[in-house]
Amino acid sequence: MGLVVQKYGGSSVADAEGIKRVAKRIVDTKKDGHQVVVVVSAMGDTTDELIDLAEQVSPIPAGREFDMLLTAGERISMALLAMAIKNLGHEAQSFTGSQAGVITDSVHNKARIIDVTPGRIRTALDEGNIAIVAGFQGVSQDKKDITTLGRGGSDTTAVALAAALDAEVCEIYTDVDGVFTADPRVVKKAKKIDWISFEDMLELAASGSKVLLHRCVEYARRYNIPIHVRSSFSGLQGTWVSNEPQGAQKVEQAIISGVAHDTSEAKITVVGVPDKPGEAAAIFRAVADAEINIDMIVQNVSAASTGLTDISFTLPKAEGRKAIDELEKAKSAIGFDSLRYDDQIGKISLVGAGMKTNPGVTADFFKALSDAGVNIELISTSEIRISVVTRADDVNEAVRAVHTAFGLDSDSDEAVVYGGTGR
Ligand code: ADP
Ligand code: ASP
Ligand code: MG
Repeated sequence: MGLVVQKYGGSSVADAEGIKRVAKRIVDTKKDGHQVVVVVSAMGDTTDELIDLAEQVSPIPAGREFDMLLTAGERISMALLAMAIKNLGHEAQSFTGSQAGVITDSVHNKARIIDVTPGRIRTALDEGNIAIVAGFQGVSQDKKDITTLGRGGSDTTAVALAAALDAEVCEIYTDVDGVFTADPRVVKKAKKIDWISFEDMLELAASGSKVLLHRCVEYARRYNIPIHVRSSFSGLQGTWVSNEPQGAQKVEQAIISGVAHDTSEAKITVVGVPDKPGEAAAIFRAVADAEINIDMIVQNVSAASTGLTDISFTLPKAEGRKAIDELEKAKSAIGFDSLRYDDQIGKISLVGAGMKTNPGVTADFFKALSDAGVNIELISTSEIRISVVTRADDVNEAVRAVHTAFGLDSDSDEAVVYGGTGR
C-alpha cells in the first residue's frame, strides 16, 4: 500500500466535531495500510475573519505581517487535528509549511512554490506517524520569511507534497461530493462529474470553480498526480482529475464539462487613452510592476475625431485599489483622461474540450444568455472556453440558463452541499 496525501478544506474542520470526524477518517486510511500525509486548512471561515481583523487595524496591511497573521489559522487546525488523532491511539505530528519544506518565492500573499524538501515528513512517516501539514504556507528561499500561497492555496500545498513524496493519489476532501457541472450552491440540478481531464479542470478552476485552485491543477498536470475530489461528509466516490480515465472512471469525454462563474473580479476602464503605439504597453507595465494579475482586456475602436480610445480590463477585486493607485501615479506619463472602477461585475464561462469541434457552441451560449435577458459587457475565448462579463446581479440566473440550455441539468437527486458558508 502506498502513500496517500489527503487535504481537508476549512468546511471539513469547521469545529471540534469536524476535527474529530476527519481524524477518524485519517486513522481509517492508516489502518488500511497506507502512509498518510494530511494537509489541513484553517477552520471554517477563520482566514476571512483574520483578514477582516487586519483591515480594521490597517487598510493596506504590510504583506509580511499579513502572511504571519494568516498562517496562524492553519497552525490552529494542524495542532488540533494531531491531538485528535493521538486521542484515537495513533501517532501524529504536525508541521508548519516551513517545517514541511515548502520553499517559495518572496511575493507575499501569493507566493509560488519553487521547491519542496520534505525530509522531516519522510522521517515522521518512517517512524510510523501520520504527518499533518499546515496548508497554504511556506518559507521564502531568500529572506526566510513566512509566505502564503493565495486564497485556496492549501490545494496547491497538497499536490506539491504529493509530487515531492511520489504519492499514489492526492485526495481533496471538501463539502460537496466532487466536481459538478456547475457550483451546486447555484445550480441545484448540477451533475457530479466522474472523471475530468486536467485540461478542462484547469479552465474551470481558472474561471472561478473554486472547488480546486487552478495553480493546484497546473501543478498536478505538470507532475502527473491524479487528484480525487470528494466529500469528507460522505463515503461516496468523487471526481477523478487526471490525464486519462482509469477503470471505473472509463467515460467519454463530455463535449461540455461545465459552467463556471466568478464574482471576485472588478473592471477598470482607462478613459481617453491616446490611440498610438506604446500606450497599452505603458498601462499594463504599470499594473504588472505592482504584481497584479489581469484577466480579460478590451480596447474600443477610437473615435476618429478625438484620436482617443478606452481600455477596460478585469482583475481580482482584492487588487483593485492597488491598481488604481499605480495607474494614478502613472497618469501624466501615460496621458489618459480618467479611470472608472466597477466592482459589480460577474463572469460566466462555459468549458469543454468538445468546443474545438462543435462550431455551434458559441452561438448557443449567447442565445441562452439573451433568452435569459442577460446583457454581455466583455467576451473572451480560448480553444476550450468562452467567458463573458455581465452585471453581478445577473450571474446566478445566467449560470442556470446556460446549464439548462446545454442539457447539463440532472433529472435525479439534487446536488448536496454538506457544509461551509460559501464565503
Ligand atoms: P474547501 O473549504 O474544502 O477548500 P471551497 O469552498 O474552497 O472548499 O470549495 C468547495 C466549494 O466550491 C463548494 O462548496 C462549491 O460551492 C464550490 N464550487 C464552485 N464550483 C464548483 C463545481 N463546479 N463543483 C463543485 N463545487 C464547486
Ligand atoms: N485558509 C486559506 C483560505 O481560506 C487557504 C485554504 O483554505 O486553502 O484561503
Ligand atoms: Mg478551497
